[in-house]
Amino acid sequence: MLRSVFLAAAGSSRMERLISSVPVSKGIVQRFVAGAGVDDALRTSRVLADDGLAVSLDHLGEDTLTAEQAAATRDQYLLLLSRLKSAGLTPAAEVSLKLSAVGQKLDDKMAYEYASAICAAAAEAGTTVTLDAEDHSTTDSTLEILSELRRDHPSTGAVLQAYLRRTEGDCRELATAGSRVRLCKGAYAEPESVAYQSALDVDKAYVRCLNILMSGEGYPMVATHDPRLIAIAEDRARWFDRQSDEFEFQLLFGVRPEEQTRLAAAGHTVRVYVPYGDQWYGYLMRRLAERPANVAFFGKALTSKK
Ligand SMILES: Cc1cc2nc3c(=O)[nH]c(=O)nc-3n(C[C@H](O)[C@H](O)[C@H](O)COP(=O)(O)OP(=O)(O)OC[C@H]3O[C@@H](n4cnc5c(N)ncnc54)[C@H](O)[C@@H]3O)c2cc1C
Repeated sequence: MLRSVFLAAAGSSRMERLISSVPVSKGIVQRFVAGAGVDDALRTSRVLADDGLAVSLDHLGEDTLTAEQAAATRDQYLLLLSRLKSAGLTPAAEVSLKLSAVGQKLDDKMAYEYASAICAAAAEAGTTVTLDAEDHSTTDSTLEILSELRRDHPSTGAVLQAYLRRTEGDCRELATAGSRVRLCKGAYAEPESVAYQSALDVDKAYVRCLNILMSGEGYPMVATHDPRLIAIAEDRARWFDRQSDEFEFQLLFGVRPEEQTRLAAAGHTVRVYVPYGDQWYGYLMRRLAERPANVAFFGKALTSKK
């Protein structure tokens, strides 16, 4: 119930105007977002890298409505990649990209061209790009663009959402040699016709997808904070004899940081997904939807004078 309220709020521009008037420095935003600018992104990446954690940086922004905004997003990624390279933070840091931020909803071809420029800059900087998964209406287009990008940039990562009924099939298609695939539960409000609705069904689907990816030839990126799924992933990695450079765990910045450290200390590759930028509204609403306890924290931050 609470989840659907927050996911509905994520798409409301009125709520966005209201909530976004809270400065980025407010506690709840600061917990999940590295800061507003590229310097904040670099500072956070440095701290995480010094702790032995890999990073995937996301320049916040989605559902871009104009070609100018899409080009500006591309330029932000080009700047970020060049700064990461100069700071010696590649390959520890890669980038995550939402195709909707580079114009997917305006023109698929433009989104492909801008994503391709970002992949080329990432290659030049010695790192990689992963295409985030968005709502189900974009999945076909995203997977088509992924396959085009992989012709020139085979290390481009995919994201698959276990809650979508189609995803086991997509896992089979993508579990090929060299294919980097992030598996997450899925963060959007989706209808029953396309997505499992109960937490139990989503978890079961996650395990079926994990089995396909872990037994396949690709590089699974296990993106979850769920202790049970993390334990199952560790078990499957042992079963399929995967070494620490043959799969990785991924967690979000600000979520279960002690688990991030524990997994890294146990010898696993751990990547932290770090969002930055001033367009944090949709991202934050999805994080609140995931955990009721965050809502109290959010209320306190909104009413705090600091
Ligand atoms: C690295 C990474 C990348 C992602 N990329 C995408 C993407 O491209 N597309 C997409 O749709 N989704 C993405 N997601 C989000 C994902 O789909 C889930 O919505 C999110 O991870 C919550 O699911 P969970 O697997 O952690 O399990 P849950 O069952 O939601 O959570 C398990 C436990 O983790 C902790 N936890 C989870 N979320 C939070 C939170 N927000 N705050 C505090 N504690 C929390 C709680 O202890 C909770 O009990 C990504 C997630 C990660 C970790």
